[in-house]
Amino acid sequence: MAERVSEQGILIIGGGITGISAAVEAAEAGYQVYLVEREPYLGGRVARMNKYFPKLCPPNCGLEINFRRIKQNPLVRFFTLATVETISGEAGHFDVTIALAPRYVNERCTGCGDCVAAAETEIANPFNYGLDRVKSIHLPHDFAFPMRYLLAPEVVGTPEAKKIKAACPYGAVDLEMQTERFDLKVGAVILATGWHPYEAEKIAYYGFGKHKNVISNVMLERLAAANGPTAGVIQRPSDGAPVKRVAFIQCAGSRDENHLPYCSGVCCLASLKQATYLLEQDAEAEATIFYIDVRAIGKYEDFYTRVQADPRVHLIKGKAGEIRDNADTGRVTVQVEDQQSGRILTDEFDLVVLATGMVPNTKDWVPFAAVDCDDNGFVLGSRQVPGIIGAGCARHPVDVSTSVQDATAAVLKAIQVVGRR
Ligand SMILES: Cc1cc2nc3c(=O)[nH]c(=O)nc-3n(C[C@H](O)[C@H](O)[C@H](O)COP(=O)(O)OP(=O)(O)OC[C@H]3O[C@@H](n4cnc5c(N)ncnc54)[C@H](O)[C@@H]3O)c2cc1C
Repeated sequence: MAERVSEQGILIIGGGITGISAAVEAAEAGYQVYLVEREPYLGGRVARMNKYFPKLCPPNCGLEINFRRIKQNPLVRFFTLATVETISGEAGHFDVTIALAPRYVNERCTGCGDCVAAAETEIANPFNYGLDRVKSIHLPHDFAFPMRYLLAPEVVGTPEAKKIKAACPYGAVDLEMQTERFDLKVGAVILATGWHPYEAEKIAYYGFGKHKNVISNVMLERLAAANGPTAGVIQRPSDGAPVKRVAFIQCAGSRDENHLPYCSGVCCLASLKQATYLLEQDAEAEATIFYIDVRAIGKYEDFYTRVQADPRVHLIKGKAGEIRDNADTGRVTVQVEDQQSGRILTDEFDLVVLATGMVPNTKDWVPFAAVDCDDNGFVLGSRQVPGIIGAGCARHPVDVSTSVQDATAAVLKAIQVVGRR
């Protein structure tokens, strides 16, 4: 019997830094790549950061290079607003069905923005975690790749949608768009579906969602970003007042059997980084970090030491208890048992930032029933389905540089599968 020849293509699910890195590495090694991203843009959570540690550079500096590599390489085909509906088959021979949700804006869009004036409806801005609102037709964000507008499905079929279509000088608004499906044959699949923030409202005693000035760490990234809801000014969400004193509550829902039993490994570094955002903005501001243990190992120890040395940064070992807000002042009271002095501390802050951890998106969805995940939803490296390879935060909660290394390793494993004849 003739041996079946492997399909040569590699499907990558998830267009964050892991998926993008895997895509360019595989394509530059000569393999056809299909990159499938469910959001309207590539870049994942990194695109939503203000800066990333340890160098504190803006996300663009890493992403732009990769976007250019994608644009220049005909072996990468990428799809946004795309999801994988089914995968069947085996290593070397997978049949995949992809669904493309309608954007209602086609490739004629030049990004000119003439359509926006015709839009009336505003929706919560998903890119900014709902901290502001955007018009029904909008760019996902200032540096979106692809740079193409998007129409909210809720206005399709209304007179507003027709006005928006008429306002486009390029005929780019297409209200007839429907979900499209197509099939692919690939030899290997890289699962780079990443993470989402732990739902802070589940930690009832911290009052997230109840106290406006209690936010999560990912929201602070957006508040500090020049392309964020406040043009980079960190201010109180309740009234826009300046922020002088900020408390960071580490392990908010992490290392806790009632929430996430594991450590996400990056939250301490994220809070140290975010303290620098605050101090850069206001030399008289102060950041207090309430922690259980500070996790900043290897190359990150220097960063920790540097930030900690700033007299405006206070590190207090203790798990914060209940958080209360003062309706008259808008300030937020945090109570903590200082484990080093044994004293109960009660202090008021302008803003409280909950350092919530990372939940793998594979907790809710895997494309193939046999993909093995641990109890927390991370794809298991050791018992992978042959030909389906987890990488980046789908596999473990990690920083950007580890995600990129993981992507390269996953590509090598994928090539070993598709290269087999
Ligand atoms: C508050 C905070 C701050 C951080 N700051 C830093 C920092 O300064 N420096 C640093 O090195 N690391 C930082 N990190 C870690 C960093 O965010 C991760 O390392 C990085 O996001 C991992 O990239 P990823 O591609 O694996 O996942 P993601 O960034 O989550 O990307 C995954 C992509 O997959 C897509 N996707 C998910 N499911 C599907 C599906 N079913 N179909 C199609 N697409 C799908 C998602 O939409 C997303 O675009 C921080 C983390 C937190 C929590």
